[in-house]
Amino acid sequence: MPVRSEALVVGGGPAGSIAATNLAADHDVVIVEEHDSLGEPVQCAGLVTPRGVPDFARKSVVSSVRGARIHSPLGFVLTIESKKPRAHVLDRRVFDTLLFERALSAGAVPFTGSRIRMVRDEGTCVKAELDHQGKEGHLAADVLIGADGHRSLCRQAAGLRPPKQVLRGLQAELTGVESDPDFVDLYIGSKVAPGFFGWSIPAGDVTRVGLCTWGENELPSKYLNRLLSRPEFANASQVSRSSGRIPVGAGRSAVSGRIMLVGDAACHAKPLSGGGVYTGIRGAELCSDVARRHLDDADGTPLSDYDTLWREAFGHELSRAFRIRKVFLTLTDRKMDRALRMFDDPEVRALIEETGDIDYPSALSKNVLKLAPKLAKFSPQLIKSLL
Ligand SMILES: Cc1cc2nc3c(=O)[nH]c(=O)nc-3n(C[C@H](O)[C@H](O)[C@H](O)COP(=O)(O)OP(=O)(O)OC[C@H]3O[C@@H](n4cnc5c(N)ncnc54)[C@H](O)[C@@H]3O)c2cc1C
Repeated sequence: MPVRSEALVVGGGPAGSIAATNLAADHDVVIVEEHDSLGEPVQCAGLVTPRGVPDFARKSVVSSVRGARIHSPLGFVLTIESKKPRAHVLDRRVFDTLLFERALSAGAVPFTGSRIRMVRDEGTCVKAELDHQGKEGHLAADVLIGADGHRSLCRQAAGLRPPKQVLRGLQAELTGVESDPDFVDLYIGSKVAPGFFGWSIPAGDVTRVGLCTWGENELPSKYLNRLLSRPEFANASQVSRSSGRIPVGAGRSAVSGRIMLVGDAACHAKPLSGGGVYTGIRGAELCSDVARRHLDDADGTPLSDYDTLWREAFGHELSRAFRIRKVFLTLTDRKMDRALRMFDDPEVRALIEETGDIDYPSALSKNVLKLAPKLAKFSPQLIKSLL
């Protein structure tokens, strides 16, 4: 006999744990995670805006930053700084564990070290098969929440769209880097990180240096080795390396039948920064609200209401950011350099410092449009993407 619950959550990352916590208050919830320990392997730089860190998870914050230095491919550096912290740097092991424990305290039943290998929507319920240390198990639920990351078996089972692009990421943790703990360094350029950017993020005892690339033949290892050969890392020692993928470019829907997707499974990572923790958590809150109302009143609230909610909350941001990303992909190194120099204007820097928000960049783009005459010369496509 299958283990039957009202909701089955696949994946114990931030999105899955938040969805399970919200639903477990008044429904039977099972949460399945393939690893025994949460947040491992680490596949994240851990940079999250304060709104992405619930109060109960504050002890996972290892440092906070208030500015960024953006290094152009031709050597120019644009510095953006704010007086207050703009982002926290997380220890994802601690963060993911705290979120998962919260779901269990709320009443969710865990299956850890268990991998879901098949999901089928049977119309009246969703069935799943799992492997637990070589043994087979069967689960069934009224609603399934797929929070199973970028490869998402649940997305495939639901027949929902894969991401438009998948970035390949690679990161090293270093000791011995002399860096300003208030700033992150970002590196752009075709020789640095084709199709994305590189970063150096102070994270307590270590500095996380990594990058993502996009494109068939652009393997990140070659570029990370080059980034690590910069003078600022000359005296550093590498303590670990990790890799991962980021799905960007979401489809219009994250619901099909009784299956709902959240976080990376729904391709909700932000196309410009690659960050997916905040949107994963926000999407999971909206998804679990709709699932709860549906379970309370099965004929009343359609699960598809979730699509309306996530699109209103951050879907439009994701679409706009994806359009801006497409323009970014057309820029030559020389144009990137020119863009940074153009932003190095006291008025523009003040606008970025006041309204810049990595979760909601469109608040900034309205202001940046005030520069339309300068931008028009630089890139008419960029203006179109900001409208
Ligand atoms: C190099 C890199 C750097 C990044 N840096 C940042 C950053 O600085 N800030 C930020 O906000 N985001 C960052 N991200 C993105 C961020 O890590 C993800 O967006 C975020 O983890 C998504 O959360 P999630 O809960 O949707 O999925 P995940 O965190 O991927 O969790 C999914 C979970 O599901 C489990 N799972 C998968 N399949 C199954 C299965 N079949 N059965 C059981 N369990 C399963 C997985 O083991 C995993 O634990 C980065 C990503 C990469 C690769």
